[in-house]
Amino acid sequence: MRSPAAPFAHDDVAAAGLLLAGEPLAVDLANTVTVATDPAVELLVDDERHAAFWALQAHRLPPGATAPSPGQTADLRSAVRSVLLSHLDNLPFDRSAVSAVNAAAADAPSAPQLAIVTAGAGLRTSWGTQDSVALTVGAVARSAIDVVTGSSADRLRVCASDACSLLFVATHAKRQWCSSAVCGNRARVARHARRQRQEL
Ligand SMILES: [Zn+2]
Repeated sequence: MRSPAAPFAHDDVAAAGLLLAGEPLAVDLANTVTVATDPAVELLVDDERHAAFWALQAHRLPPGATAPSPGQTADLRSAVRSVLLSHLDNLPFDRSAVSAVNAAAADAPSAPQLAIVTAGAGLRTSWGTQDSVALTVGAVARSAIDVVTGSSADRLRVCASDACSLLFVATHAKRQWCSSAVCGNRARVARHARRQRQEL
């Protein structure tokens, strides 16, 4: 089966210190901390990992966007995680998290534009700010809004493994693992071992 993270090369994902990448931007950011263990595990452990995360995501950020500071990233992640988890668990939204996401989206207004290309017309986005960090933060905020209100809003899930807390948007209804190659495979191996024990 094609990995949902296919556009992201495995080595690049590992180099960025991530367990998964290629989910919507907001989900990828939310997954930079894992909470299946106590205490939670921070994946953006230092400036290098922080820079690597944003470098990995650069191709889907607006042109000219640059990385926020680690502190801005942490604040953004906290607001985005709150919104995604409230949606996932069907809990009331935290108002300050919603305000933070809305403010970030408003700081990077955009308009769809028709671009004339050789084959006809294409879509281009015109961004209403030159602030390179606001572009990045705004793109993540828009992604969070889309994940909880868009056409896949009922497909946000947490990995079915007890040892994993990664979020993903299920591209097909039956998907229950963050990655079939990691958690899905671990579950298959465990099931196989159980069956063998029962047959002895
Ligand atoms: Zn998992």
